[in-house]
Amino acid sequence: MEDFVKTSNFIHDIIDEELKEGVNTRVQTRFPPEPNGYLHIGHAKSICLNFSTAEKYGGTCNLRFDDSNPSKEDMEYVDSIKEDIEWLGFKWDNVYYASDYFDFVYECAEKLIKKGKAFVCDLTPDEMREYRGTLTEPGRNSPYRDRSVEENLDLFRRMKNGEFPDGSRVLRAKIDMASPNIVMRDPIIYRIMHVPHHQTGDKWCIYPMYDFVHPLSDAKEGVTYSICTLEFENNRAVYDWFIKEIGFEEPPRQIEFARLNLNYCLTSKRKCLKLVQSGIVSGWDDPRMATLCGMRRRGYPAAAIRDFVDKIGVSKANSVVDYGLLESCVRDNLNASAPRAMAVLDPLKVVIDNCEEGFTDELETDIHPDHPEMGKRKVKFGKTLYIEKSDFMTDPPKKYFRLFPGNEVRLKGAYIVKCVGYDTDGDGNVTCVHCTYDTDSRGGNAADGRKIKGTIHWVNAEDAIEAEVRLYDRLFNVPNPSDESKGDFTENLNPNSLTVSKCLLEGGIGELTPGASFQFMRQGYFCVDKDSTNEHIIINRTVQLNSSWK
Ligand code: ATP
Ligand code: MG
Repeated sequence: MEDFVKTSNFIHDIIDEELKEGVNTRVQTRFPPEPNGYLHIGHAKSICLNFSTAEKYGGTCNLRFDDSNPSKEDMEYVDSIKEDIEWLGFKWDNVYYASDYFDFVYECAEKLIKKGKAFVCDLTPDEMREYRGTLTEPGRNSPYRDRSVEENLDLFRRMKNGEFPDGSRVLRAKIDMASPNIVMRDPIIYRIMHVPHHQTGDKWCIYPMYDFVHPLSDAKEGVTYSICTLEFENNRAVYDWFIKEIGFEEPPRQIEFARLNLNYCLTSKRKCLKLVQSGIVSGWDDPRMATLCGMRRRGYPAAAIRDFVDKIGVSKANSVVDYGLLESCVRDNLNASAPRAMAVLDPLKVVIDNCEEGFTDELETDIHPDHPEMGKRKVKFGKTLYIEKSDFMTDPPKKYFRLFPGNEVRLKGAYIVKCVGYDTDGDGNVTCVHCTYDTDSRGGNAADGRKIKGTIHWVNAEDAIEAEVRLYDRLFNVPNPSDESKGDFTENLNPNSLTVSKCLLEGGIGELTPGASFQFMRQGYFCVDKDSTNEHIIINRTVQLNSSWK
């Protein structure tokens, strides 16, 4: 085992300090997805961080759907998000929806208006952009900024009552148009949208903006640490402003961390949706997707994803993590747990000439070499076998220790065989290899102690099981498919990201339940696809034995 250095977590350092100094007395976090897509590996980092932080300090972590933009949201996404969090092994204390707080959020908006801290603005979006200023120039006050409290209240209530069309007016916070932080330049807090909502139906035709509803939801729930990604760093000022203006006894604290970026992957729900909608992948759970459901279908264990998130640590510095690290976590995990079996992906027939027709020997072997408690499996050996095409050569180079005329190899777990000839078709392709087996080598070792250099895998023809095998590779050719300067991400697809073929599985493999994982000796880790049936077995390659990412 390699040494495992516990990575640092600056958020836990902050919490330790605040608990010690009595700034906070308890830890409450939340995972706040917007239900507008399926979760991806980036979200796993946020999930692990929020749930394990609560767990570490004996606190609570709620699941809160940030559903204040009904136009892109859907219940399908709500259900999938719950499924993925549970699969990762976490339990939320409560499920909330930001939309649960719409009445409260509306009250807060009226409160701001009454304090003279919010106003209804009639500028068009273009005008508003123009008034906003730039990074180097201050903005200008909206001509509607000095409306009276009464007029603002009246207009806002009429917005709520549906008297105005979409986009005609907004409610804005009155902060500071000269602030160097553009987010503080009188941000919009409510917009008119005559769109039904998946939770509240057609109760509302105005919806609060994320920057407004988020701090209020955190505070209302009693969140003490609102952990989010770095792109919200500038929004912290407005977060704190709303918390202060509305007034809460126990103000939540926002802490930002660097999001997870993984090379060769898209970690954006919007872009994942595009892959799905364009038919480039078969769905959100296509095993090539960086979604959690895609990785699950590919056979990545949840524990491997948690290990991976642990290894990358939590920091304030943005970086891109190598996909190979995730694969090595998957490999380590499956190596420790997956039952062993043999499968031949590209079969070549072998006939054992000195076997009687109909002869079979049933050998026993451990299902997992390190876990005798997993039991044994039966492997049959008979006259006709299949080996991997690449394990035979008629005219091998030096140091080729597999099968060639005159050479001996060990058939894994069975006997030593010697190649005594081969058949070819009209084009000279090898169609069948002839061998004899050493009857004194049962289990794989020669009785006279002679050394056999090569060991190859094989399956017995009589009871082999035919299956469809799907070999997956990276979906993109470029390390950063999000980098639009290299063209749209749909232009950087790897044409060989999926290869479908037939393979042969050993007869003793056992139940092929969808989701079950195996190590196919010398090949890698594979799992049974969710669409697999007894009549049509489908196997996905999860990861190869050795890294192909170098
Ligand atoms: P996307 O851009 O994929 O839609 P998002 O940030 O808009 O992502 P949300 O549903 O808002 O998606 O995310 C829920 C939580 O997960 C947020 O707190 C967000 O900061 C966090 N999160 C999203 N992507 C990542 C990532 N790549 N790394 C770490 N945390 C992330
Ligand atoms: Mg978002």
